[in-house]
Amino acid sequence: AALGQIFAIMQEIVTQHIGNMNRDMGKVVNFIRLLDMPERTGTEGETDFARGVAAKDISFTYPGRDKPAIKNVSLEIAEGETIAIVGENGAGKSTLVRLLTGIYRPSEGKVFIGGLDTAVASPASVYKGVSGVFQKYQRYKMTLKENVAISDVSAEAGAEKIHSVLSEADFEMGDIKLDDMLSPEFGGIDLSGGQWQRIAIARGLYRVNGFIVLDEPTSAIDPIEETKIYKQFEQLAKGKCAVVVTHRLGSAKLAHRIVVMDGGEIVDIGTHEELMSHPGKYATMWEKQAQWYERAEDCVPAQLPV
Ligand code: ATP
Repeated sequence: AALGQIFAIMQEIVTQHIGNMNRDMGKVVNFIRLLDMPERTGTEGETDFARGVAAKDISFTYPGRDKPAIKNVSLEIAEGETIAIVGENGAGKSTLVRLLTGIYRPSEGKVFIGGLDTAVASPASVYKGVSGVFQKYQRYKMTLKENVAISDVSAEAGAEKIHSVLSEADFEMGDIKLDDMLSPEFGGIDLSGGQWQRIAIARGLYRVNGFIVLDEPTSAIDPIEETKIYKQFEQLAKGKCAVVVTHRLGSAKLAHRIVVMDGGEIVDIGTHEELMSHPGKYATMWEKQAQWYERAEDCVPAQLPV
């Protein structure tokens, strides 16, 4: 069971820099061989996001746990649709995105990514279509540029793109100018948690695919900045299938539909207005969070939540 988890973590790392898929998959495969585990293989195929992303009645239990983390969840994400997933700690949000991106396979039910059945398709075929920013991401002891373009380290031509994604992630801060940070002399990757999160976001923006996932990458970034990042993400996600996990409902409100999770199940789904029109978990969560903000719509904190 522990080895299974190691494999899942390795796959998550791979999903973060897919461009180097062959190289990274090679490393993973060697690692698994070392552990004498069966490799996860499958049939090659092409993702077609006109077919969206779909979970059909999936359940998932972590090894060693008796209670399922995900119970009978069905969800369809159409091309061009952004879904926000909200819910309290432990509700199953991260587990669901890991299942939706093919990092985990459901114990029951099926996940289709761009039409590919994750139980049958090779991980490489699936991941080619997915780009994600997850809660756990790698901090490489490399330059800022290499950290962003990890999927494409050799790309000199990518310099302009790196500059643009870092600007989009609003990376420039304080006295240090982005150009200085990107110069080869700037070796100091001694950054704050929020800056590292911006690198992780920029890494995701650098390599955009048919299915984009943001699993709460902004916890160390203040709400105003977070709202900015999500607004940029909204532009980026145009025409794609997109999923955003967030605790801040002001950001979730930007999505086309909001999925409300509780105890591993989807308990409600709809637009912000639909979810607010009846009593329920979402309306309760919104009211609670609104107390933190002067104007909840803008996520402007009147005072810091205690
Ligand atoms: P949070 O908002 O705190 O990030 P979440 O909604 O994303 O929470 P998950 O991380 O998906 O929730 O966790 C759902 C359930 O699965 C929890 O009960 C959690 O304890 C359990 N769980 C999560 N990761 C693992 C793991 N690697 N091994 C065993 N159990 C896990």
